[in-house]
Amino acid sequence: MQNFTFYNPTKILFGQGQIAALKAELPSSAKILLTYGGGSIHRNGVYAQVKAATSGHGVVEFGGIEPNPRFETLMRAVDLARAEQVDFILAVGGGSVIDGSKFIAAAFYHEGDAWAILADHAPVQRALPLGTVLTLPATGSEMNAFAVVTRESTHEKLPFSSPLVYPRFSVLDPTTTFTLPARQIANGVVDAFTHTMEQYLTYPVNAPLQDRFAEGILQTLIEEGPKTLEHPQDVDARSNMMWCATMALNGLIGAGVPQDWATHMIGHEITALHGLDHAQTLAVVLPATMQRQRGAKRDKLIQYGRRVWGITGEDDTTIDQAIAKTRAFFESLGVRTRLGDYGIAPEAIPALVAQLEKHGMVKLGERGDITPERSREILELCA
Ligand code: NAP
Ligand code: FE
Repeated sequence: MQNFTFYNPTKILFGQGQIAALKAELPSSAKILLTYGGGSIHRNGVYAQVKAATSGHGVVEFGGIEPNPRFETLMRAVDLARAEQVDFILAVGGGSVIDGSKFIAAAFYHEGDAWAILADHAPVQRALPLGTVLTLPATGSEMNAFAVVTRESTHEKLPFSSPLVYPRFSVLDPTTTFTLPARQIANGVVDAFTHTMEQYLTYPVNAPLQDRFAEGILQTLIEEGPKTLEHPQDVDARSNMMWCATMALNGLIGAGVPQDWATHMIGHEITALHGLDHAQTLAVVLPATMQRQRGAKRDKLIQYGRRVWGITGEDDTTIDQAIAKTRAFFESLGVRTRLGDYGIAPEAIPALVAQLEKHGMVKLGERGDITPERSREILELCA
């Protein structure tokens, strides 16, 4: 196992009815910026519950944070937050609202152009505190220090992270997810699955506990993911799905092990240039990365095939089947796994590789061996 520091300060309030409990978590007399997306919280009763829980506080609302939250939109929220002198952000929604709110929290105190936080890794010195009410299990943003923001004008999608943007608390009420459309349910399963794979499918470092944490999440997603699609009101399936997604990216399974993240970085460029959902890009890129990196990931691929999918037989056929099973799982959820399924022709590949180079994504993967040339090979396997 490698050396690590594990730190996660986010308090989780899990279960049915827990939105009411956030009242006790808000700093007394804080003026709150309530952030949300395109209106799903108005249709499913979450907004009313949040309003009840924040009664007694000054609340300023900022709605309309879009999927793949836009820098341009978020800067309008920063202006509002400064004008209203808010002290706390309460983000209510999916990963986009939570990521966007983390950026608002950091940009609030940033002097100069806040794009530098994303493009130039400008250090975050200070951030507004935030809490979240999660309505879409997928990203893990509710219990991590990452955020991804898109600049519409330049078609760039870039991540940042800072320990200052860990949510102070997150409410995970699985019944808020009952209203998710099938596409978003499936996206959530694929995103959580891929987060786990980015931290698991690397090379062995004698960390059997981390391996088994990861395998447990993968197997649970394989079991519970389809149940949430087939029985949308199954609260147990929703609960398990929600907890899987949070645990897949809160630092625990990645502690002390190598991490990959090439699939995510390549996927971000596909979203930036072609507008695919985040999880759609992952469903396309992950099987191709597994195939291209099958030599470097050989031992873990065999372990994954045997332990997660119960495949028996020769090593090389186990790897073939493990990749095929992964692709088939994503397809069974309704998430297509080829660029062509989204109308993207092989001619689009050079522009994607050029974007990776522009963003310094030239040594990706757990060994830093995914050069632009290899990213091109991976993208060709996506076609
Ligand atoms: P999302 O973009 O937050 O939401 C997708 C759609 O689902 C929105 O239209 C939203 O509608 C709707 N929705 C959310 N909750 C709903 C509910 N309970 N009922 C009905 N509709 C609901 O999706 P996401 O997958 O959670 O987030 C994706 C973003 O997170 C991407 O930008 C991705 O790059 C990023 N990401 C972040 C991390 C991280 O660690 N921070 C990791 C992976 C990915 P409304 O807008 O109307 O609410
Ligand atoms: Fe993701």
